[in-house]
Amino acid sequence: MADYDIIVIGSGPGGYIAAIRAAQLGFRTAIVEREHLAGICSNWGCIPTKALLRSAEILHYGQHAKDYGLVLEGSFKADLEAVVKRSRGIAVRMNNGVQFLMKKNKVDVIWGEAKLTKPGTITVAPTKKPAMQPQGPIPKNAKGEGTYTADHIIVATGARPRALPGLEPDGKLIWTYFESMVPAKMPKSLLVMGSGAIGIEFASFYRTMGVDVTVVEVLPQVVPVEDAEIGAFARKAFEKQGMKIITSAKVTKVEKSADSVTAHIEDEKGGKQTITADRMISAVGVVGNIENIGLEALGVKTDRGCIVIDDLCRTNVKGVYAIGDVAGPPMLAHKAEHEAVICVEAIKGLHPHPMDKSMIPGCTYCHPQIASVGLTEAKAKAAGYELKVGRFNFVANGKAVALGEDSGLAKTIFDAKTGKLLGAHLVGPEVTELIQGFVVAMNLETTEEELMHTIFPHPTLSEVMKESVLDAYGKVLNA
Ligand SMILES: Cc1cc2nc3c(=O)[nH]c(=O)nc-3n(C[C@H](O)[C@H](O)[C@H](O)COP(=O)(O)OP(=O)(O)OC[C@H]3O[C@@H](n4cnc5c(N)ncnc54)[C@H](O)[C@@H]3O)c2cc1C
Repeated sequence: MADYDIIVIGSGPGGYIAAIRAAQLGFRTAIVEREHLAGICSNWGCIPTKALLRSAEILHYGQHAKDYGLVLEGSFKADLEAVVKRSRGIAVRMNNGVQFLMKKNKVDVIWGEAKLTKPGTITVAPTKKPAMQPQGPIPKNAKGEGTYTADHIIVATGARPRALPGLEPDGKLIWTYFESMVPAKMPKSLLVMGSGAIGIEFASFYRTMGVDVTVVEVLPQVVPVEDAEIGAFARKAFEKQGMKIITSAKVTKVEKSADSVTAHIEDEKGGKQTITADRMISAVGVVGNIENIGLEALGVKTDRGCIVIDDLCRTNVKGVYAIGDVAGPPMLAHKAEHEAVICVEAIKGLHPHPMDKSMIPGCTYCHPQIASVGLTEAKAKAAGYELKVGRFNFVANGKAVALGEDSGLAKTIFDAKTGKLLGAHLVGPEVTELIQGFVVAMNLETTEEELMHTIFPHPTLSEVMKESVLDAYGKVLNA
């Protein structure tokens, strides 16, 4: 008999959720981790960035206290060391939380680097500490190096920063998200290469902290996966805050001096410029951790840096599965968690619904926040739909005005023939919380009729959602 029914490699949101669900279903389960329980998400991704952004948000409110009739006496400023310490403390708390959950669910933790050696078998070697990732606390009762067997092995090894040739992060002048999260001192100026979620969240954090920020994006719009109108709205808001944004342009070369970088930037028309900044953040995407885990030896198929899976997270090799970032885009924690449950329930024979990738929401926690689900207007048109599109501005929402946060846009896209909600796109205050209303609606295959029939509480920001739906059908009330 194998040592375990299921071994999970990697304890990020994909891996640890898979381990919990496996244990709940009665599988003898182990999880292997080489650096930090809870993975990138809790240690170097979703959670510590939100902690930093929260400090920046409060700083912003403090700086605008007068707008709320409040007087702040004395100095009100950021203590960078304390801001970073708070964020790191929260990461440790998350890490400890997963340790608790593994213990509670009787999941064995094996500490070290796992490698598949043959079907059903892994070896675990001591962690080779990667240069940029301080190792998290090792659970006291963790098992160590050795050979372990299991009937099913789930690969959840996550991803790491992508590096462009010639523009590789060095951890000193050119940062990845690791260094960006723990600055020892605030740079005066910062160049952010890439305006996807990671790049723009850091740009937003540093700008609010008073840094002179320039963002360079190769595509024509910032936050390029978002609807063009939302991207344009966000860009205006960022520029109003003093962020400089250069689109349709790429960094071609970087020259380093002792304490600054000079980036050579070329736009699509061949125009050239140089920008010198104290630091540069490389935020040009992530690549799956597929190397040195024995995939080649077993013949596990990969494609463009990710493991190829079917809709139940099975690879082409029997007994080997993959979930989360290593199994391809969108590289989001909630996608990893959802795949984890599908994967384990399918192993159990519970016939879970396969993932519908068109229903995965995306949230970006810049200021203003951005959130979306479903098709953009351009994609819906390209798919051949005849559209009804609604828009509603936060400026006409009473709660937004009361909050002093009345800049934002809600956009909804319907199939004109059937009334099916195809996409919802929001930019503005707390939209990362609001979007879930549309996600639930889409999952329930809602139409405009049901959304119009739904009562939204007043006064709430959520009323912009309903007004946007009403606008799509020429029935808007507050505009
Ligand atoms: C700065 C930043 C902000 C982000 N913000 C958000 C956000 O707001 N919302 C969101 O949804 N997503 C966000 N993400 C993305 C999110 O972090 C990832 O999608 C998520 O962590 C993927 O989970 P995972 O389980 O696939 O892998 P990971 O969280 O990357 O975990 C993989 C784990 O596997 C371990 N591992 C790798 N190889 C081995 C091996 N051979 N042996 C043992 N262990 C191994 C690693 O040490 C790691 O702990 C953010 C990412 C970054 C970088």
